[in-house]
Amino acid sequence: MGKIVQLDESLANKIAAGEVVERPASVVKELVENAIDANSTIIEIELEEAGLSKIRVLDNGDGIEQEDCLTAFQRHATSKIKNENDLFRIRTLGFRGEALPSIASVSLFDITTSTGEGPGTHLSFKGGVLETQELSSSRKGTDIVVQHLFFNTPARLKYMKTIHTELGNISDMVNRLALAHPSISFRLSHNGKRMLATNGNSDSLHVLAAIYGMNIAKKMIPIHFTSLDFEVKGYIAMPEVTRASKNYISTIINGRYVKNYTVVRAIREGYHTLLPIGRYPIVYLEVMMDPLLVDVNVHPAKLEVRLSKEDELYRLVAEGIKGVFGQKQLIPSNSPRKQTSYT
Ligand code: ADP
Ligand code: MG
Repeated sequence: MGKIVQLDESLANKIAAGEVVERPASVVKELVENAIDANSTIIEIELEEAGLSKIRVLDNGDGIEQEDCLTAFQRHATSKIKNENDLFRIRTLGFRGEALPSIASVSLFDITTSTGEGPGTHLSFKGGVLETQELSSSRKGTDIVVQHLFFNTPARLKYMKTIHTELGNISDMVNRLALAHPSISFRLSHNGKRMLATNGNSDSLHVLAAIYGMNIAKKMIPIHFTSLDFEVKGYIAMPEVTRASKNYISTIINGRYVKNYTVVRAIREGYHTLLPIGRYPIVYLEVMMDPLLVDVNVHPAKLEVRLSKEDELYRLVAEGIKGVFGQKQLIPSNSPRKQTSYT
């Protein structure tokens, strides 16, 4: 008899969870992105112990039909793409069909969901094993509760950092999702205490004020640059407002928060000598481009994307920002730096 066997579904899910569900912030990201893809206008996130004991994501989106609900927990089950063609034109945040089965396999997982037509469904899983399946209320939307994350993967649990660090990661993630979706009202609370509330009025400056405070929001300059293939919108802080980390630079590409070093480099080049050494600006930058030019299928968590025409984007952002500060004359004319920054 041969030695090679096909792993069973539950083990395969746990392996996938190793990539998709690195920490509580990844669970929040996946669940909130699902809520966004489901056209929600209000998304409420409640945490206990930085998500390690409980993460609840409640939305008022489309919900899942009764007959689809169990299927959603199978690997690679998705309503968002159907064929290879769709893979190259992704307009939703999810498409891999991995989040629900992965998260459910490493937690106690409860979902109550309804399309608002007829009764909804309540399922509960323990370590990926279905424990309860019943009808529920028909409130339109989805309510997911994840408890005791990594209870059955002790090595992963051990790797968790302090509550403070894990909470910081979640808060960064939710801030960026809120920035990328100003028309959705986000509410985040931790141990009953409100951490973020955005009003969903479509104004990014309001979201920036909710995240960084009014004083910073007042120092943000709106930007809008276009080139043949790209449209870039957002807000950049006046150079006097700097931070010691690049964490305050948020790049959203076609509605998806990503880490993109080209954009970060271009931003720094744009500010050039206006930034003291080792300091970064606060920037919120939204890039719109043909989905055909972005490959989002690079990383399971989809935090990195591959862009065609990165050079064009680099120039657009760097030159655009230089132009903004050139026009605004933010540096006193006797500053010795001026020559080097604008020539
Ligand atoms: P993906 O998002 O990649 O499709 P997921 O495992 O995250 O995969 O979700 C599986 C499917 O479950 C989704 O395609 C969607 O149809 C459904 N779903 C998940 N979360 C929600 C939600 N909050 N509201 C409505 N449908 C949802
Ligand atoms: Mg998803």
